[in-house]
Amino acid sequence: MRPRDLTRYCRDLGWRDAPDLPDAALIPSQATATDCGDLDNLAGLIANCNDCRLSEKRCSVVPGEGDPRARVLFIGEGPGAEEDRTGRPFVGQAGQLLDRMIFALGFERGQVFIGNVVKCRPPGNRDPEDDEMNACAPFLERQIELIAPQVIVALGRVAARRLTGTDKTMGALRGRWAAYAGTPLLATYHPAYLLRSPLAKREVWQDLKDVRKRLDDESNS
Ligand code: URA
Repeated sequence: MRPRDLTRYCRDLGWRDAPDLPDAALIPSQATATDCGDLDNLAGLIANCNDCRLSEKRCSVVPGEGDPRARVLFIGEGPGAEEDRTGRPFVGQAGQLLDRMIFALGFERGQVFIGNVVKCRPPGNRDPEDDEMNACAPFLERQIELIAPQVIVALGRVAARRLTGTDKTMGALRGRWAAYAGTPLLATYHPAYLLRSPLAKREVWQDLKDVRKRLDDESNS
């Protein structure tokens, strides 16, 4: 039973002041990501994670957000300053550009899922280290399993390399279909890169067209 269902159950039984239980309240400390049966439960587990040094300096954990049954899952590298402040992914300037990319794909932000390779901000916006990505990997893997998207879009070099298991350059990775555990995956430039290099938008729009076509082909098959 989920914590909030337990609260409702107690209130139904007549305990009118039954406290609102946070999602993580019933998760035993040894619980793992694979024990989590839904994204809310998983977010509760992520919120209590202290498995790497990124947890020491964070203001908020940023588990990700969106439709739990999204057809498209966008994965960036990790929260920045604004995301750390708000606990929400891609809400800074790069996030506004991501919103436009999502719109170009034919969706609203709430119709896709947006997550990150690491859920806590790397200080100074440095790239996450391998051991930090390893510590967060079970969370990302479980998110992908639970959402079961039709397509994953990896945003930028860190996510693209991590999810394809290669160390190729972004030029070599972008615009080519790969797969993550059987799910089609397309890597494209990170929206923060597009803010610095607007000419690359043309390639990103092409990538988004390819994603749209893939979704349409799936719907028609
Ligand atoms: N960049 C990312 O990779 N992720 C965010 O959530 C925000 C900026």
